[in-house]
Amino acid sequence: VTRIVPFGLALLAAGVLSVAAAAPPAAPDLILHHGKVVTVDERFSVRQAIAVRDGYIVATGGNREILRLKSAATQLIDLGGKVVIPGLIDSHTHPGDASMVELDHEIPAMSTIEDVLGYVRSRAKVEPPGEWIQVRQVFITRLREQRYPTRDELDRAAPEHPVIFSTGPDASLNSLALKLSGIGRDFRPPDGGPGKVELDPATGEPTGILRSLTRYVNVRPTGDRPTEEDRTRRLLELFRDYNANGITSIGDRDASADQVERYRKLRSDGRLTVRVSISQHVDTVGPLEPIREKIRAIAADPLRRPDPFAQIIGIKTYLDGGMLTGSAYMREPWGVSKVYSITDPTYRGLRFIPQDRLVELVRTTVKSGLQYTAHSVGDGAVHALLDAYAEVDRTLPIRGTRPCITHSNFMSREAVERMPALGVSIDVQPIWLYMDARTLVPHFGYDRLRYFQPLHSIFAAGGTAGGGSDHMQKIGALRAVNPYHPFLGMWIAVARRARDLEAPLHPEEALTREQALRLYTRNNAYILFRDDVGSLEPGKRADLAVLDRDILTCPVDAIRDTRVLATYLGGREVYRRQ
Ligand SMILES: [Zn+2]
Repeated sequence: VTRIVPFGLALLAAGVLSVAAAAPPAAPDLILHHGKVVTVDERFSVRQAIAVRDGYIVATGGNREILRLKSAATQLIDLGGKVVIPGLIDSHTHPGDASMVELDHEIPAMSTIEDVLGYVRSRAKVEPPGEWIQVRQVFITRLREQRYPTRDELDRAAPEHPVIFSTGPDASLNSLALKLSGIGRDFRPPDGGPGKVELDPATGEPTGILRSLTRYVNVRPTGDRPTEEDRTRRLLELFRDYNANGITSIGDRDASADQVERYRKLRSDGRLTVRVSISQHVDTVGPLEPIREKIRAIAADPLRRPDPFAQIIGIKTYLDGGMLTGSAYMREPWGVSKVYSITDPTYRGLRFIPQDRLVELVRTTVKSGLQYTAHSVGDGAVHALLDAYAEVDRTLPIRGTRPCITHSNFMSREAVERMPALGVSIDVQPIWLYMDARTLVPHFGYDRLRYFQPLHSIFAAGGTAGGGSDHMQKIGALRAVNPYHPFLGMWIAVARRARDLEAPLHPEEALTREQALRLYTRNNAYILFRDDVGSLEPGKRADLAVLDRDILTCPVDAIRDTRVLATYLGGREVYRRQ
């Protein structure tokens, strides 16, 4: 690939408007000009025009300089002053599952108990009696009432259908679902594992709420099993919607073996319209040696090779519970809570991997040349993972594998400072601050949230944070769970505002707009081993998005409503707003 390296700098140095002295390179096949090209290079340079050839950026610069490169065959696009940014990168998605959630019917947004019951009633009308009705991952901390629908409420909504409403490890069931699962007042988990049936203190009967027992609920899926064709079609549909939101690269942060095979096929068929960096799922329970073998097998996969469209970068594990279900592993006790059903004042949340095992998993992963990341929400989990990274790093340098902490919501001054020293980055979800601070602030108090998503501190300490959505359900940037509208994410990182909270949450941790853009471009490129994208510089792939407004100068609250006018992937238009 011909590189006209740093065009603007060369011009400045030479003091003349001419390209390098070597033989003239072939003309660009695409030039976008008379715009504001926000390159997000190291110095955050802004140019007027950009030239592309064979899928790569060949030059950025002033209108005259760049237009001078054109030939009769060059496609010219007059931006009319519009802003161009690097194609956006979401470092945390679950596209395979998310795209299948509404395969046979649309699921409405649910923000109240009545919304939930209305949905259950609507399913009871169309499903034959006896068929299961499932409501998944509608977090009770995101419902106005902040509680589960009761067994009685679910019975009234669908008396002839078994109903399960589940979030995280817990669930609320109606009477028929309890009966079909053989779960009554005296039920004890036969595997001796965790879990309990909640009983009504007045009657001694099950309330319908099961704690960590969903493995004993005999849900029979309704409808036809989706075909491979269904899965592929829906996945590509979702990727088109990512493109419509300016997204050109993603991290799949928990791909199953099936999903990896699907990417392999779509890649060889040339059908992917986003570049996928894959963190493959690895179970961490059971004997250690088979887990190690699995990690080594992932490292030997041909998709480990750097690839423009699909590459395995590492593995994903789960170190603790979640903040929406009161199970993130904290350094201090959670505190007694009705919303989170915490009665033990010493309870600190759930941790899934003991420290010595964590160290061994990290060591094997680093030895295999893979990126390790673990879902680590609470500060206890974040510290444990940093400790494990530090221990392995003493004998086996970890930096080259770009070790990561996924979510990393609750941090500390110490964690912020240890990250860059070890070369550890985080993939973080600003949308959680927006959606959930209204539950976290009353529970933890404002001060304990001082280092909740401390993005300004991380940037100031020289750490690397990348923005992601944790998209897990539905297609549609704002209606999805979680919303994957990247400009909403940037706005939250800049404004630190949360729904239903009047004041911003620790505005001293707000990012500048430039930093927020880095969060979704070059920082994620680093985290996802996509060194060929993430900024608009000669030699990089021509992934870019044209915006309807200038996110660097518009009113702050207008950032969240930014719309993408066109998206290019390797110089090819993959989206244009009609
Ligand atoms: Zn996730």
